[in-house]
Amino acid sequence: MNDCIFCKIASGVIPSPKLYEDDKIFIIKDIEPKAKLHYLCIPKIHFALLTEMDEVKAELVKHCFQVIPTLEEQLGLQEGYRMIINQGKNGGQTVPHLHIHLLGGEVLGDF
Ligand code: AMP
Ligand code: ZN
Repeated sequence: MNDCIFCKIASGVIPSPKLYEDDKIFIIKDIEPKAKLHYLCIPKIHFALLTEMDEVKAELVKHCFQVIPTLEEQLGLQEGYRMIINQGKNGGQTVPHLHIHLLGGEVLGDF
């Protein structure tokens, strides 16, 4: 059984309003926002790390980067935003299903 929370959201087992969805990816609000606006762009196929990349997964990540710019105004990110992909323990990754954080809605501080 797949215990992955993002797989469960993808399949609808756990309800979470999807601000964008197509056959490859979806976007939800982060449940614990780290900025005024905080979204997650999530491929529908389960994989945790960029090292697991193959042609199919690369297509999903590429699709994220194609879709996100088209949604900037709709998501309130037109003034700019920060994208983050946490990887593994040292990167602070808590959900082992690859996702892109989108942070904005305010001027973000330095790291
Ligand atoms: P990361 O630490 O990069 O793995 O990011 C995981 C993110 O998922 C965190 O920012 C969490 O707040 C967020 N998160 C965990 N569970 C949910 C959920 N059910 N719905 C939305 N966001 C979630
Ligand atoms: Zn998953």
